[in-house]
Amino acid sequence: MTVDFFSNYTMTIDGRAATASNFIEAVNPATEDVIARAPDASRAQLDEAVAAAKRAFPAWRARPVEERQAIVAAIGDRIAAHAEDFKRLLTLEQGKARAGAEWEIGGSVIWCHEIAKQRLDPEIVEKQAGRYVEVRKVPLGVVGGITPWNFPMLLAIWKIAPALVAGNTMVLKPSPYTPLCTLKLGEILRDVVPPGVLNIVSGGNDLGAWMTTHPDIKKISFTGSTATGRKIMESASGTLKRITLELGGNDPAIVMPDVDVEAVAKELFWAAFQNSAQFCVAAKRLYVHRDVYDRLSEALVAYARTVKVGDGAEQGTDLGPIQNRMQFEKLKDLLSDAKSQGLKFLLGGEIPEGKGFYVPVTIIDNPPEDSRVVVEEAFGPVLPLLKFDDVEDVIRRANATEYGLAGSVWSKDAAAARKIAERIEAGTVWINEVHTFSPHIAFGGHNQSGIGIENALEGLSEYTNSQTLVVRDELNRTVPA
Ligand code: NAD
Repeated sequence: MTVDFFSNYTMTIDGRAATASNFIEAVNPATEDVIARAPDASRAQLDEAVAAAKRAFPAWRARPVEERQAIVAAIGDRIAAHAEDFKRLLTLEQGKARAGAEWEIGGSVIWCHEIAKQRLDPEIVEKQAGRYVEVRKVPLGVVGGITPWNFPMLLAIWKIAPALVAGNTMVLKPSPYTPLCTLKLGEILRDVVPPGVLNIVSGGNDLGAWMTTHPDIKKISFTGSTATGRKIMESASGTLKRITLELGGNDPAIVMPDVDVEAVAKELFWAAFQNSAQFCVAAKRLYVHRDVYDRLSEALVAYARTVKVGDGAEQGTDLGPIQNRMQFEKLKDLLSDAKSQGLKFLLGGEIPEGKGFYVPVTIIDNPPEDSRVVVEEAFGPVLPLLKFDDVEDVIRRANATEYGLAGSVWSKDAAAARKIAERIEAGTVWINEVHTFSPHIAFGGHNQSGIGIENALEGLSEYTNSQTLVVRDELNRTVPA
């Protein structure tokens, strides 16, 4: 199938191309050039997409799970067949460097193939002669997916694959900042997925808000900021939609004094700055034991100086720009606040002249615990290094946040690190590594980092309702052996 990935972006509604009378502009964050326009769906078009998904639902849910799994695996094959175009387009619209685009598109393929092996079989919870109780997992109906701009492809697949395997149909809306890869995904799948089963609509925040109140959407699966998550929870309550919310974080990384400083410095750098720190689970507060603080900060700064920030499309670039002007302005404001507070910059802090939303790698030396760079989710390459002496104190500080997405502990003594990890209030805590994700590992936030789980059977289960069948069968024909 020949598809031009670099022009003509259309939505996919009921298996067909749909455009709109209004458009949103996609901007390359490395150059600030408008690279394309994407349809800005009207409310009537959202209704059409939801109606198509609703019509497609009975036949889709009735298909054997093996057929749905095969189609989700075929989605992975189709992405793989267009991988090169996806990688280039992802860098163009999102800004990330080549290695990051490879990781994201490769991951999208893996997720389709692995989620396609998952299924939720019925469970017999009670059984006697002539009577049994069975709990089955049944699909919800039309699911609405809403995604952010940092990993537009992978996070869309995290929703599409389990929703479809579980027997739901879907209407998915990408971020208005990064609609292009998701629109092309819809286009290349028109002959893979039956009409109406997967609808891709693009538009602004209003479109997302309409989805959260739509009476025929049974669930919203959302990844984005905590502020938007709160709004979604409120507006979804009108129709008692199921919700999965994957939200923001302010992840602590705790570095104990027994670490190999040089080796750990490099790993911590990437823990914090991967994807230019536009990463929900980036290490956002680095707590370093006083005994190694100076050596580690020197090693971190030395390594950071070797990392190239630039246009993701250029060879040799390690970190791309900030994805959009809104986030760029937020970071500029954070940096000027840090300066006005007199905080000490070990590296970075100056926005370069010229085009592109570039923020340099910025490391701040032991700022007060209540400063904005510590308390807020920067969602950009501004990292506070914080000193600690005492384990009890660092655990208290690590947990002193409204968030609870993830965290990490670094020590040669994994048993001691584990004791600390168990006391971090977060959905995932890594020990001596970070960012291990898998279709088989449950992921979700505590506190205001979210509600519910993605990935693993637990994540699949969130795309279902439980149905309990209590059966008295005097003829004993249906009672399981
Ligand atoms: P955002 O909340 O601004 O937008 C996310 C999506 O929500 C977009 O598609 C947007 O159009 C839509 N939206 C906006 N207002 C809406 C409304 N009222 N109703 C419904 N939808 C609405 O988030 P963002 O800036 O795109 O993404 C960055 C945030 O996402 C960060 O906080 C980051 O930590 C978080 N994030 C979390 C995870 C996770 O898995 N926990 C993963 C990636 C990003």
